[in-house]
Amino acid sequence: MSKVEKFAFHIPSLEELVGVLQNGLKENFADVHVSVVDCPDLTQEPFTFPVKGICGKPRIADVGGVPYLLPLVQKDKIYDLNTVAKEIQLPGAFFLGAGAVSSRTVGCNAELVPIVQAKNGDKPAVNGSYLAKINPENGGCLLEKYSTKYHDCEFGLLANLYACEGLPGKVIEVKANQRTGELNFISCMRKVLEKHYGDKPVGMGGTFVIQKGKAKIHIMPSEFSACPLETDEQMNNWLKFFEMKAPLTCQPVLVSRDPGFDLRLEHTHCFSHHGEGGHYHTDTTPETVEYLGYFMPAEYLFRIDRPKETHMVGRD
Ligand SMILES: [Zn+2]
Repeated sequence: MSKVEKFAFHIPSLEELVGVLQNGLKENFADVHVSVVDCPDLTQEPFTFPVKGICGKPRIADVGGVPYLLPLVQKDKIYDLNTVAKEIQLPGAFFLGAGAVSSRTVGCNAELVPIVQAKNGDKPAVNGSYLAKINPENGGCLLEKYSTKYHDCEFGLLANLYACEGLPGKVIEVKANQRTGELNFISCMRKVLEKHYGDKPVGMGGTFVIQKGKAKIHIMPSEFSACPLETDEQMNNWLKFFEMKAPLTCQPVLVSRDPGFDLRLEHTHCFSHHGEGGHYHTDTTPETVEYLGYFMPAEYLFRIDRPKETHMVGRD
C-alpha cells in the first residue's frame, strides 16, 4: 500500500451549493439552471455505468501525479482501483474520473476514463472503463472499452477519482448553455466555489454531458517521451489535440483550493458512443454548447502516493 493522507472537506448543503453555482455560472454562461434533483438512472444512455447513482459516502482521491509522467516517465508507478478502494476506506467503491492506463497492462501509454465498481468481498469488480489512445493506423483517436481486452482494474502514474457507493439519491443538476466567458465548464465551477468558500476547500465530482457542440480534447501519445518534457510548451507539443463532437460523457473531479497536498485541482476525461474520447480542455463552440451535469460534494480527500519531487508543469 502507498502512503495515504486524509483531509475533511467543507461540505455545504446541496441547497446552498445550488445558489452559489447558479449565481457564479451566470458570469460565464448565458443560460444557467442549477437545482437539486434525484440522480437519473446512470445505467442508462449516455452514461451506461455499472451503478445507478453517484451518492453514498462521496470522496475524492488524488493518486500519484504528473511528476511521475514528466519530465521522464516512471513506469513502475502502477496502482489498482481495488486497492485504492480500501485505502479510501470504502471497499467496493464506485469510481469515476480521469487517469492514465497501466502501460504494463495495455502495452503502451493511453488516457484512462475510469468507471469501475471495485470488488467487495466475493463480489468481483465491474470495470466499465474506456481508454483513448492514438490509432497507430492513422494518428486519430481510438476509443476502446477496457473490458474487451483487459481484465484488471489497474492504472498508471496518476488519477483523479470521485468515489462513492454508487447509490441513487439527491444530487446537484447543472445545466449551462452558450458559453459567454473564457472558462471551461469545470474551471468555472471550481473558481466560483473558490471565490465563495475561500480557505474552506470544497471537492466535487460526478458526470456531465456535452450535449451539443464540439470540444478540445487531448490524447497522450502511445510512446512516452524519450526526451525530458520540462515546460508546458514541450508538454503541449508532445500531446495530440483533437476537436471531438457531442455527445461526450465527461467525468470531472474538482477541488476548489489545494489545502496543501500538491493536488491537481481539476481533471476531466470523457468517452462517447461514437468512438471519441480523451482529456477535456474546453468546448470549441461557445455559441451552441450545452452542458448537463450531475454533481455531489465530497466529504473527504485522500492523497495517495504524493510525489516527493514536484513541479507545476502539465496540470491543465
Ligand atoms: Zn487527463
